[in-house]
Amino acid sequence: MTREIQHFIDGKLVSGTSGRFLDVFNPATGEVQARAPLANAGEVRQAIDAAEKAFPVWRAVNPQRRARVMFKFKELLEKNMDELAALLSSEHGKVLADAKGDVQRGLEVIEFACGIPHLLKGEFTEGAGPGIDMYSMRQPLGVCAGITPFNFPAMIPMWMFGVSVACGNTFVCKPSEKDPSVPVRLAELFMEAGAPEGVLNVVPGDKEAVDTILTDPRIQAVSFVGSSAIAEYIYATGAANGKRVQAMGGAKNHAIIMPDADLDRVVDDLIGAGYGSAGERCMAISVAVPVTDAVGDELVKRLRPRVEELRVGLPTDPDADYGPLVTAEHREKVRGLIDLGVKEGADLVVDGRDLTLQGYEDGFFMGGSLFDRVTTDMQIYKDEIFGPVLSVARAKDFDEAVAMPSDHQYGNGVAIYTRDGDAAREFASRVNVGMVGINVPIPVPLSYHTFGGWKRSAFGDTNQHGLEGVKFYTHIKTITSRWPAGVREGASFVIPTMK
Ligand code: NAD
Repeated sequence: MTREIQHFIDGKLVSGTSGRFLDVFNPATGEVQARAPLANAGEVRQAIDAAEKAFPVWRAVNPQRRARVMFKFKELLEKNMDELAALLSSEHGKVLADAKGDVQRGLEVIEFACGIPHLLKGEFTEGAGPGIDMYSMRQPLGVCAGITPFNFPAMIPMWMFGVSVACGNTFVCKPSEKDPSVPVRLAELFMEAGAPEGVLNVVPGDKEAVDTILTDPRIQAVSFVGSSAIAEYIYATGAANGKRVQAMGGAKNHAIIMPDADLDRVVDDLIGAGYGSAGERCMAISVAVPVTDAVGDELVKRLRPRVEELRVGLPTDPDADYGPLVTAEHREKVRGLIDLGVKEGADLVVDGRDLTLQGYEDGFFMGGSLFDRVTTDMQIYKDEIFGPVLSVARAKDFDEAVAMPSDHQYGNGVAIYTRDGDAAREFASRVNVGMVGINVPIPVPLSYHTFGGWKRSAFGDTNQHGLEGVKFYTHIKTITSRWPAGVREGASFVIPTMK
């Protein structure tokens, strides 16, 4: 019988009661390995009830004690790393080493959250006026929610709940319905680490669950990561319902290759960053921009054999570069975009559309594809492909190379390869993109910095994790106090100033 994934509500695993389920595949075999329950509005409200009930209890736990729970949770993540990575890989399809990276990146946010007593310290001014002290404090918001995508089922939930609960909030996570087992397991481990019941709840679901989160007045803040169309909807609907919202969307990350770049290094980096995790990363490099045609010709000459030699294999195969895509439906979408690129006149140098893995013909595998002579007016340049496809789009000079990512609808990540410090510095300053790598292909900031793109890659003002995350999940309150209170100065009708 097919395994049934459960919700995690109020400290317990509970079966879905909506009667609606989504098949969760083993992407390597194409078989259905489990069914994810799709939470209805009532089930989501139960999770919100539990979080609401837990909030006064949890916020009263002092920050140092909350940090101890985070420390213990980190230990449990380390202890259960192999199990979590195997579960993640079996539903997502990414290779085991990469699945461990997914868990590890989330764990690093928990490490950051272990410092919460220090992060929540406010500011204090003694003697701001006669007998007057002024201070500020950060307080939790209440019940917060996170809605997460399929591609990082460990890291992204931890970006959100890791910071939120450390700040003293309680949380409802609505993970992707395509691979929800890891987020549910994380909630179990968080309880095991000593969190009270109801502090972290996980309810797999679809639009019905999302809309319940967006409209329930008890939810104070919503953090979203997924595609841009949904991110925009979440931002608009959440804000219209009076919530704080941060909504990260899709991406098209360019790598600019200057004529003085170390091309061997560039090719290694493009292969890893373009095809790792089958290109299903929001920070994947999907467009290589060689500056000048001569660099373009040499780059494509060197990339072609490397793309042809990519080792596509089982997620459990330690020699595989990447595994299958998450679903057959997603693979069809990627294939369709490659078909479109051919129609639009791009040069398909390596065609990975029809790769199958012997013995695993029903798995959702795809070979690596490489396009050359992609131009900025093509749809395959404008849209996110989110598959193992790298496009080469040539620029005639530095200015054109800066303009390409700057003018693109997405502005998540970008990289420049050069040995010229002036060019790198000017590029980093001018480019209209949120995260910049200089000779670094995937510039994902570490947990104590902050993650977020620009333009249609992020709606809202604050980023994920780092100090921005702490700000997102807390209110700041500023107190002005006068002691001794009894000093009489008479009524004043002008605004107090320091003149
Ligand atoms: P998605 O937008 O399909 O789904 C994301 C979440 O939204 C899921 O929980 C899903 O259940 C929910 N959802 C889907 N359709 C909905 C609807 N109509 N109404 C309400 N909720 C809905 O994204 P995905 O395919 O799971 O993830 C891939 C996308 O996420 C890519 O575009 C990728 O670039 C993006 N992503 C962005 C970042 C970032 O930080 N910018 C990080 C990772 C992934």
